[in-house]
Amino acid sequence: MSNPSNHPIVPPLKDCVHRAQELLRACVHCGFCNATCPTYILTGDEREGPRGRLYLMKDLLAGTTPGADLEPLSHCLSCRSCETTCPAGVHYSEILDTVREHTEGERSRTERALDRLSIAALSARRPLAAIMGGVRRLRPFIPQALKQRVLGSTEGLEWPVARHARRVGLLVGCVQPALRPDLDIKAALVLDRLGISAQRVGPGCCGALPFHLHAHDEGRSTALATLAWAKTGDWEGFTSTASGCTAFLKDYPRLFQDTKAAGGAQAFAATVTDIAAWIDPAHLPRLSERQRHRIAWHAPCSLQHALKEAGRVEIILRALGHTLVPVADSALCCGSAGPYSLRHPRWATALGRRKWQSLTGADPEMVVTANIGCQQHLAHHGDRPIHHWLDLVYDALTNPDKADRG
Ligand code: SF4
Ligand code: SF4
Repeated sequence: MSNPSNHPIVPPLKDCVHRAQELLRACVHCGFCNATCPTYILTGDEREGPRGRLYLMKDLLAGTTPGADLEPLSHCLSCRSCETTCPAGVHYSEILDTVREHTEGERSRTERALDRLSIAALSARRPLAAIMGGVRRLRPFIPQALKQRVLGSTEGLEWPVARHARRVGLLVGCVQPALRPDLDIKAALVLDRLGISAQRVGPGCCGALPFHLHAHDEGRSTALATLAWAKTGDWEGFTSTASGCTAFLKDYPRLFQDTKAAGGAQAFAATVTDIAAWIDPAHLPRLSERQRHRIAWHAPCSLQHALKEAGRVEIILRALGHTLVPVADSALCCGSAGPYSLRHPRWATALGRRKWQSLTGADPEMVVTANIGCQQHLAHHGDRPIHHWLDLVYDALTNPDKADRG
């Protein structure tokens, strides 16, 4: 799909540029955001922080710097930590998305080819699932250090029959079902115990993968397919077990501003919440002393900065009886950031190492997170287990004896 200004679902680029220029005016150049920007902290380079990037984006939108170096924009993790910090409420990520679309023609052929390759490889759900299934069968022979990256056996797990009046649509996703095919089933079983039937919805990818790899219109088409799915049943709301996907669903209105899909996207997004919002901590069991753990909680950026739903999972983990240890610099990205770790492995590794030090500083028994990307990215440190928080809730509800995961 090209970007003709009269396409019914593609907002005219000139309108987006105009809006981004308006949004840029909110920035007062105070630089507070630099203090919580992972790439600025890594490099100490103003160009690699949000304020420097905003200056660059202003010039790019004005067209005053043809041939400008776009590398600092490519290094941005889209973690949105700067948005949380900014006292002026600058919508950094919306400006960045527009600039990336606006400057698409200036990127090299190699970069574009790499993006296409990443999209093709990561969105090929069936082949990816088949490969991971094969690797999973070899798990007993895999070195201990790599075992945490090969998870997700569905043995003994079955999706529960929809028997409750309350129903939630659980987005299928693309990469997660291959890496953790058990997680959605466990989520459905947890919700079933709490009186809510979860049903699989959507065409697969939510659109985040192509959109964040510069295939903006492909991302919109995929989002449109999800919106069409959302109308085929009677669901109270929508969620997913990967906070990165949930955050993108919540952002659909931005993708379709001033188009005929805008109303539908807004109505849909209003029903999207993080999956923790569906779990009432008051209905969870309190684990015995032996089953409780000292946990370092890693809130993915998509949860704390994009969805702004930090705090819910912590309440759930404490309701089970676990203790959460303090984590320094908890607002900082771990470096996973979707396909970022593939495109910028050196930066991603440096950020992952730094994050692991923060997470393990108070010597927790385990690390717990909410996004498969973060879980996989941090898993290779291997000196202690890392789980999705839903694993712990599932164990507590179905088999507390197994809850002893330490
Ligand atoms: S984005 Fe916000 S925090 Fe950063 S320089 Fe601009 S006004 Fe200050
Ligand atoms: S989105 Fe993250 S990496 Fe990008 S400028 Fe903001 S804080 Fe820095």
